[in-house]
Amino acid sequence: MTAATVAILGIFVADTAYMASRLPKIGETLIGSGFVIGPGGKGSNQAVAAARAGAKVAFLSKIGKDTFGDLALATWGAEGIEPKVAVSQTDGTGAAFIFVNPQTGENAIIVYPGAAGTLGPADVEAEAATIRAAKVFVTQLEQPLPAAERGLEIAKAAGVTAILNPAPAFPLPDTIWPLCDYVCPNETEAAMLTGIDPDSDDAARAAGDALLARGAGCALITLGARGVLYHTAATSVVVPAMTGITAIDTTGAGDAFVGGFSAALAEGRDPVAAVRFGCATAGLSVTRKGAAAAMPSRAEIDALLD
Ligand code: ATP
Repeated sequence: MTAATVAILGIFVADTAYMASRLPKIGETLIGSGFVIGPGGKGSNQAVAAARAGAKVAFLSKIGKDTFGDLALATWGAEGIEPKVAVSQTDGTGAAFIFVNPQTGENAIIVYPGAAGTLGPADVEAEAATIRAAKVFVTQLEQPLPAAERGLEIAKAAGVTAILNPAPAFPLPDTIWPLCDYVCPNETEAAMLTGIDPDSDDAARAAGDALLARGAGCALITLGARGVLYHTAATSVVVPAMTGITAIDTTGAGDAFVGGFSAALAEGRDPVAAVRFGCATAGLSVTRKGAAAAMPSRAEIDALLD
């Protein structure tokens, strides 16, 4: 088997979505109007996006021995993703409760990482060879920070391009930033990490400067329908989002961008071209409902970029 070019550390959760006109009050039982179950978790969604975009992907995580674990394995199997996944004997696979009001589109979410919430540096160390053999390493912050930091350290030391998607965002130790060739927050995460709301291109550049000052190699701030700021000490450009598409569900748009960008970088595209590729991936994903299910194929991305 050829080595994966993109190694992604993160969590899988079974997304269980319940539709109802409102959230129940504490102690109340409501009859809902719909239910959908499907694969979720930022890391796993990014792995699906990268695989469909054409990368050979390995996914590093931990699951339980249960039905949701079977869903994880079936999802990765169908996408050709190589699972480098420990199976816990004591903890279950992660799950997310997603309340959706179909009239307003509003949602409320509880994510329980399950077995992936116990991922530690030793679990990542066990898959160090996979990280070292890749061209690009990606992680987020849904699993414990020490696991993410160890993955970034291994990648950095091996000269593998290291990408941190700091989601969900919380204050991070100074040691993490110099390990990141790319830090890729969305607007909310960038504001949380820097104290600067990137609500204009100038403000996004100021937030980008703050991330560079901490030691990151490049700030990549996703700006929703405005596109993505690519910001290094030498170059700063806002790559516009795809136009001429009808956005119907932006769930997983950030994951689509990270997956597409990583796949393009692993192919050897220059970083700004890889950002364009990521925007095409994300632009297509928002035209469909769902997260992992909405990730586009390589043929669709190529057709949009032509
Ligand atoms: P989510 O949390 O919903 O997964 P996010 O907040 O992490 O998304 P965004 O910054 O909203 O990420 O979007 C990521 C990328 O998706 C954007 O940089 C852009 O390329 C694309 N995108 C998002 N919304 C639109 C849109 N309405 N039209 C075109 N592209 C979009």
